[in-house]
Amino acid sequence: MRFQEVIGQEGIKRDLLETVALNRVAHAYLFTGPEGSGKLPLALAYAQYLNCEHPTETDSCGECPSCKAFAKLQHPDLHFVFPIVKDKASDKICCDDYLEQWRELFEQNPYLSLEAWQTHIGVENKQPMIYESEAAGDDTAPRIKGVIQKLSLSNFSAKYKVLIIWMAEKMNDVCANKILKILEEPNPNTLFLMIAEDTRYMLPTILSRTQIVRIPKIDDASLSQRISSDFMMEGDELQSLVKNANGNYCQAFKMASFGDKPSQYFEYFKRMMRSAWQKDIMDLTALGEELESLGRERQKAFLQYCLREIRENFIRNQNIPEILYMDNQENAFSSKFCPFINERNVADFTKEFNAAHYHIVRNGNPKIIFFDMFLKIIVYLKR
Ligand SMILES: [Zn+2]
Repeated sequence: MRFQEVIGQEGIKRDLLETVALNRVAHAYLFTGPEGSGKLPLALAYAQYLNCEHPTETDSCGECPSCKAFAKLQHPDLHFVFPIVKDKASDKICCDDYLEQWRELFEQNPYLSLEAWQTHIGVENKQPMIYESEAAGDDTAPRIKGVIQKLSLSNFSAKYKVLIIWMAEKMNDVCANKILKILEEPNPNTLFLMIAEDTRYMLPTILSRTQIVRIPKIDDASLSQRISSDFMMEGDELQSLVKNANGNYCQAFKMASFGDKPSQYFEYFKRMMRSAWQKDIMDLTALGEELESLGRERQKAFLQYCLREIRENFIRNQNIPEILYMDNQENAFSSKFCPFINERNVADFTKEFNAAHYHIVRNGNPKIIFFDMFLKIIVYLKR
């Protein structure tokens, strides 16, 4: 991955390049920020740059053997740790067993989300985690090589041996403590790149031993440019998708690859609100069935759309037009609808859509989840 392939984040790229120019590369970094902001791509671009044989001031060459190996995630000095579900039946018990799938998903889209990873390895209903054997190996299964063993080997060819721990907040406590030990006594020429979305679940002692790089969400202009070239999208459709993605390329990628048009969600939203207002239970039942047929990913996207609509209508009701974004049809509907979203119900709506999203993610029955949500909407709209 080259820096130029990373979407936006020009300030972060400059800071990282500066560490090299000034010879101030730390031994451990934690890239933290929201989903889809580019933490993994930035970490990989940095690792590739540090090991490139012919780097320029702004990027790796992309052509040397080291760059080529890094681009495929196949450099012998590049190691990965990420959350997995141990599957004894198919003998997949450590990250190395999942490496092929990891590279496969990365090739589809280097902006990985935990959800996309879970779907890719078919464990949507299980919580993947990083086990202690990833740090120190496993005496009962000698083929599992822990990070401690991997990092103790001398470098094959790279200047920096690189360990990437993706979703580091998923390390269990034993694993985290073992990683802490390595951070305290680092091997020379070893670079730790940890990636986390929520550092509240990480050991403070680990945080204090890393250089923390805070990655903001992607700016709309950069995201728009990338989506436009990746998916040949333009005009209102593009603008609407970018607004709905909210700086998250994982989300944008998902919406664009589904060929989703937020206008479909708008129609559902409008119909849901109208039928709830009229207490049209027949139509709400029919709507629930339609939503069920969309499948889980689109159901979640629809609920995220609802959350945005509630926010926008509340803002409009509060008369803060400068932070408002609506396309023409949303705007027309909102002119009549926005008074219904007010300080008496905005929190309830938000909570309800989040709750439905939570239950959909955990594989609840969509028809029941949506119908229950519609009944609450009927009540909230009258407040
Ligand atoms: Zn190179």
